[in-house]
Parts: sequence; structure tokens; C-alpha cells
Amino acid sequence: MNYFKELNLPQNLLENLSLLGFEQMTPIQQKAIPYIIEGKDIIAKAKTGSGKTLAFSLPLVLKIEPKQKQPQALIIAPTRELSQQIAGELKNLSRYKPDTKIVTLYGGEPLSPQATSLESGADIVVGTPGRLLDHISRGTIDLSNIKTLIVDEADRMLDMGFDRDILKIVSNLPQNRQNLLFSATYPNNIEKLASKILKNPINIEIKDDKKDNNIEEIAFQTNNKDRTLIDIIQFFQPNIALIFCATKVKTVELSDMLHNKGFDIATLNGDLEQYQREEMLIQFSNGSLPIMVATDLAARGLDINGIDIVINYDIPMKPQEYIHRIGRTARAEAKGLAISICDSYDKEKLKSIRPSIDIKDAKELTPDRNFFLQGKYQTLSIDGGKKKKLRAGDILGTLCKEIGLDAKDIGKINISDRYSFVAIDKSVIKKAYDGLKNGKIKKRKFRVWWL
Ligand code: ADP
Ligand code: MG
Repeated sequence: MNYFKELNLPQNLLENLSLLGFEQMTPIQQKAIPYIIEGKDIIAKAKTGSGKTLAFSLPLVLKIEPKQKQPQALIIAPTRELSQQIAGELKNLSRYKPDTKIVTLYGGEPLSPQATSLESGADIVVGTPGRLLDHISRGTIDLSNIKTLIVDEADRMLDMGFDRDILKIVSNLPQNRQNLLFSATYPNNIEKLASKILKNPINIEIKDDKKDNNIEEIAFQTNNKDRTLIDIIQFFQPNIALIFCATKVKTVELSDMLHNKGFDIATLNGDLEQYQREEMLIQFSNGSLPIMVATDLAARGLDINGIDIVINYDIPMKPQEYIHRIGRTARAEAKGLAISICDSYDKEKLKSIRPSIDIKDAKELTPDRNFFLQGKYQTLSIDGGKKKKLRAGDILGTLCKEIGLDAKDIGKINISDRYSFVAIDKSVIKKAYDGLKNGKIKKRKFRVWWL
């Protein structure tokens, strides 16, 4: 079976898949979906960017019976950003069952609105372990009707630190349920750990085919990492670059350094407020800030279209983190480049993680000093979103018809529950900002920020 239409799915689900651009199943989807529909527990392993989210989301959405008051499925993920992304994919997929309610639970936001959402009836809950435990201990989540548990990035979630939280959450679930673990990497002892959660699981593994490895990996040795980082950007000239470093402090230092050299930079680390994390990610993915400097917070699961280079400014501690970091490029069928920077100390670490990698001398780079990676757009944020019934079309209409912008100068529009973000070509951003600030959308006044 190769195509979704060969599965025995309702016609309106097939039509929705097709609208979303999904026709042919990826290998993990081909193998896992039939077992999941059958109700089996599985441990699934397939490379980064191979469509694991849809592999677990499709059978889930298929089974959900909306409006039952208590949630029927729980998805646990390691970060807020990944939880949001999974929830977004579930929302798109469940459009054909419009009553399906998906609730995200993660930290950095107040508990009580989340509790209210749960109370008014959630079908699928997606969240991070800490916040899920908060709701469990306050009694604001009823898990008695959970039929499916999904652990994404399962090896990370069962890794030291997270494992106890996961087991605590699991101990609050009904015994009789389906369990699904997904990741691109697993430690050797996964069966032992997994046996605490799953029953007679089926192991599904899609082996990496060396021939269709879409990520080219290179490394450069240097005694000046900052200089080499700039050389790499000015030599390879990416459209969108993601840079990883080891600490939160370093993400800030590197961002400042690159910003001072004239690059447009987003920073992502766990010290930022939740709203800042969201604004950074939106500006990175909408072409306003085409370079993002991040900690391993961004290493797992994030699916951002168009990242063509991942740079390891620091070499990660563990081989699996290397795999997940570089897996932020070459999503689906795309190609990508992963470049590691090492000094004489890092070199051994890199060699042990990636024995066959070609380490070149950074002096071989011939950068173009006139290349500066800058955003085509800047972003305006509006203090209204889905809750105020604001839609992309409303914002587009105001900008074009009332403010007089050309549609070609308007980029991505992201609408969250309470805010909207619109990317506007730099050349007309002032006009858009003044227009929105002084005018109205759908006859209502909104506050507007120029990020
Ligand atoms: P993984 O979890 O395996 O790292 P994702 O689930 O994030 O990968 O999917 C990577 C990308 O592939 C996403 O942008 C997703 O929309 C796309 N994708 C998934 N399944 C298909 C499919 N069957 N056909 C086309 N694109 C797909
Ligand atoms: Mg994933």
C-alpha cells in the first residue's frame, strides 16, 4: 500500500488529506498506520522528517468521537513548541470532523484558562510532562477515558529526568489503552523501559537508506569559531539557517555578535518568556529573521519549512542529539546541509559521534564578505486572534483594500488564539504599521506592535 486512498478511510478524510497535500504515504506511515488502526501498541523508529506525526495523528483522528467531555487521547512531547506544532497538525487533519477539540497544555502560560478549556470538553490533549503533572495534581484533568497514549520523541521522554514524570503520568491512565512510541533514535535498552508503558509492542523500524540520505554533513576545524561561523554563512549563503550552541548564555552572545555584523537573528532558549519564544519562532519561519541561534530546545521535532543549513557551533554531548539537530533540515523530500564547527578540543568529540565525517580546515572557506543574511520581511503583531474571530483574510483585506498595500508585499499570516502575526515586506512596513495602528480591522480597533 502506497497511497492514503488505498486505506479504507472515510471519503471526507481522504479529501482533507488531499487538500493538505498528502497523497502518497511515507514508509513509516505505510507500515505503522495499519497496526495502529488495528489497536496494537508500537515502538516506531524512522528518520527525522519522515512523517511520523501524520503516522500517529491519522489513526488517532480517525478514532476520535468528538464531544465526549473527557479526553480520549494524550500526546506527550518534550517542548512547548513541539506540542504546539503537533496540535496544529491535528487541527488541520481533523477539519473534516469539525467538533474535534484539541487542547495544548504546557508551561509559561497560566493554568486556569487551560483548566477551563479542559472543563469545556477536550478530545485530544497535547502537552509537556511538567504541566500535565500540574493538572493531574490539581485534579483539573480527567484522564479516566484515555484510550490512546502517544509519546513523541520517546527516547528523550524516557531519558533521565523526564522518565519519572512520564511514568507518573502513565500511572494515572486507565490500564486498558493503546500506547505508541515514536522517535528517530532509541537507546539499546528501550524495550526494558518501554515495557513499563506498553503491552506486547510491535517494533517498527524504517532503516535509513544511505542512498537517500538527504543531509550532507561536513565539519570545519578552526581556532576562531566566531570567525568561522561567519565564514560558513558567507560561503554557503543559505536562505534559512539554524545554529545550535550548548548554553543559553552562548545563544545570546552569538546572536549579539551576528546581529552586530549585520545579520537578522532570532534567538531561542528556555530563559525567554513564552511570548518571546513564540515571536522568535514565528519571525524565523516567516522570513523576518532568517537565522536562528538556539539551544537543544530546538533540536527535537520542529518542522520548519526551508531550513537549508544547520550549523553546530558546539558539538552536542550525545550522538542522538546530533542526529536530531541536523534533522531540522532536509524535511520530507528536501535536501540540506549540516555543518559542524570544531576546535581542537571538540574534534575528538565529533570524531566519536561521527567517525566518518570529513573535517576540513576552515581556511578552505572563501566567504563573500558582501553577503548578509537579512529578512525580506518584518513582522507586525496584532492583539487579536482566533478568539476574537480574526482570520487571515480579514487582515489581508484591511492591508490591501484600506491601507493600499500590494498583496505581493504581504507574507505569511499566523493566527494564534489571542494574537495574529503578519509578515510585511520591509519596504512598506511603516505604511502597514501606521495604517493598522490608526485604522480598524473588521470595524474594530486593535493594538499593533512592530516586532
Ligand atoms: P518526523 O516527525 O518524522 O520528523 P514530521 O512528521 O514532522 O516528521 O514530517 C515532516 C514533514 O513531512 C512535514 O512538513 C509534513 O507535513 C510532511 N509530510 C508528512 N507526511 C507526508 C506525506 N505523506 N506526503 C507529503 N508530505 C508529508
Ligand atoms: Mg516528529
